[in-house]
Amino acid sequence: MAANKKVSSAVLYGKKDLRLEDGEFSAEPGKGEVLIGVQSVGICGSDIHFWVDGHIGDCTVVAPTILGHEASGVVIAIGEGVTNLQPGDRVAIEPGIPCHHCQYCKSGHYNHCPYVKFGSTSPNNGYLTNYTIHPAEYCFKLPDHVSFDEGALLEPVSVAVHACRRVSVGLGSKVLITGAGPIGLVCLMVAKACGASVLIATDLDSKRLEVAKSCGATHTCLIDKTSTSRQVAEEVKRTIGASPDITIECSGAASAISAGIYATKSGGSVLMVGLGAPLATLPIVDASVREVDLIGVFRYVNCFPAALDLIASGKINTKALLSHKYALGEVLSAFEMAKSGKAVKVIVDCSF
Ligand code: NAD
Ligand code: ZN
Repeated sequence: MAANKKVSSAVLYGKKDLRLEDGEFSAEPGKGEVLIGVQSVGICGSDIHFWVDGHIGDCTVVAPTILGHEASGVVIAIGEGVTNLQPGDRVAIEPGIPCHHCQYCKSGHYNHCPYVKFGSTSPNNGYLTNYTIHPAEYCFKLPDHVSFDEGALLEPVSVAVHACRRVSVGLGSKVLITGAGPIGLVCLMVAKACGASVLIATDLDSKRLEVAKSCGATHTCLIDKTSTSRQVAEEVKRTIGASPDITIECSGAASAISAGIYATKSGGSVLMVGLGAPLATLPIVDASVREVDLIGVFRYVNCFPAALDLIASGKINTKALLSHKYALGEVLSAFEMAKSGKAVKVIVDCSF
């Protein structure tokens, strides 16, 4: 029987009620599971939304829930039957554990599993804590030269891998990325790694566009809030001298989806990664008559291995995203910084 471990956790009780709580951890890994000492956890926009609003759409905080789903750590103990990991291995955690039995899981679309247990989505605890238990099959061993912070970023990079796979971004693709937050930036990097030759990023914030340039954007376009979506689309086309083949929408703003539709070439695609207001007014006839496909993107399916390979091989460099780091004891300050919009990616050090 293992001794109880003292732990601190960032627990969300409801709207604007995030508490750093001390407690004890005594669980041991069961069959197929590993005990992980959590190291680095990135704060995602959805953590901020849950904290600020107490819900995202219909998904409400129904019980005190540990936040954070971009996580890495060290394997401390393995349960029965675990063969892919050993104590001491450094791992990234894929936070969604699907059921393996439903039609979506069986057909390889486990991102749509209705029974998925996704860490940090109430009531499933996330990883802003010192220890966690996780299925070994959803842990990915990090090579020595990939840091824990980069390991935490495997989660958002996996979103970008899934997005680029949804439309086969490829050699010579001209790609528009609307919104240069962390998700837009990883989409930019992954699209570049896929062979895209023109990468234009738009944002309302010039600092974010500076980061986009350092992440490989060939062009940027600063949006003036008073511009119409058509004007933004014309500016994008003028800047790159062509219509993008693919738009990867990463802001969640309806006006950006509209700009993406207007800008994208006939027969092209708009990937809707951003999740904004549940209802939006869009130029749907323009999309129809020019056969611009609107494609949904939700999380990832078997994307962590590719995300890890991209980082480990140096094909993408996520270090430019790592702007701020806080200790777990300062988690409230970390959330304030992430909410301020001044940071790119805030990491919380959860090592004990
Ligand atoms: P973020 O808020 O940090 O970044 C969004 C960026 O968009 C900001 O820099 C903002 O200035 C910019 N922006 C706002 N309005 C704009 C406009 N009209 N045109 C261009 N840029 C504009 O958010 P993030 O963490 O980068 O996440 C981006 C989006 O992706 C969010 O909506 C998030 O919910 C969503 N997301 C979706 C998935 C998925 O599985 N589909 C996964 C993770 C995140
Ligand atoms: Zn399932």
